[in-house]
Amino acid sequence: MEKKLKLNQKRMDAGLISEKFPKVDNIVIQMTYYQKNGGASSVLMERTVNYFSTSYAFFQMQCMCKECTNGGYELGPAIAGMVKRKKTSAKGDLVCTGRGEGLPKGHASVTYEIAIQYT
Ligand SMILES: [Zn+2]
Repeated sequence: MEKKLKLNQKRMDAGLISEKFPKVDNIVIQMTYYQKNGGASSVLMERTVNYFSTSYAFFQMQCMCKECTNGGYELGPAIAGMVKRKKTSAKGDLVCTGRGEGLPKGHASVTYEIAIQYT
C-alpha cells in the first residue's frame, strides 16, 4: 500500500507529457516480460501501455515478481532520447536489478518496443 502511494507521488512529480514533451502526441509501449526459472527464461506476460499528452510522463514499469524489492524497468531515458532525436520507434531490453528472497540474479527481464507519434 505504501509502495503504491509512493508510486502515485512519483507519477505526479514527473509532470504531464504535454509539459515535458510538448511535441509528443502519443506513445505506445509494447512490453514482453520474461521470468527466469532455473536456467531458462519463459514469457510471463505481454502488455501494451498507451500514453497520451494528458498522461503523466512516468515510464517506470514495475517488476512482476512479488518477492522483488526496488526492481523494475525505467524507460524514461530511452523515451527522452527518442524525443530529442524525434525518433518514432525504438526497441530494447532491460534486466531487473531488484533483489528479493530466493530470487536469482537477473530473475526477470523485458523486451520493449516504443512507438512515438508527434503532433
Ligand atoms: Zn525484479
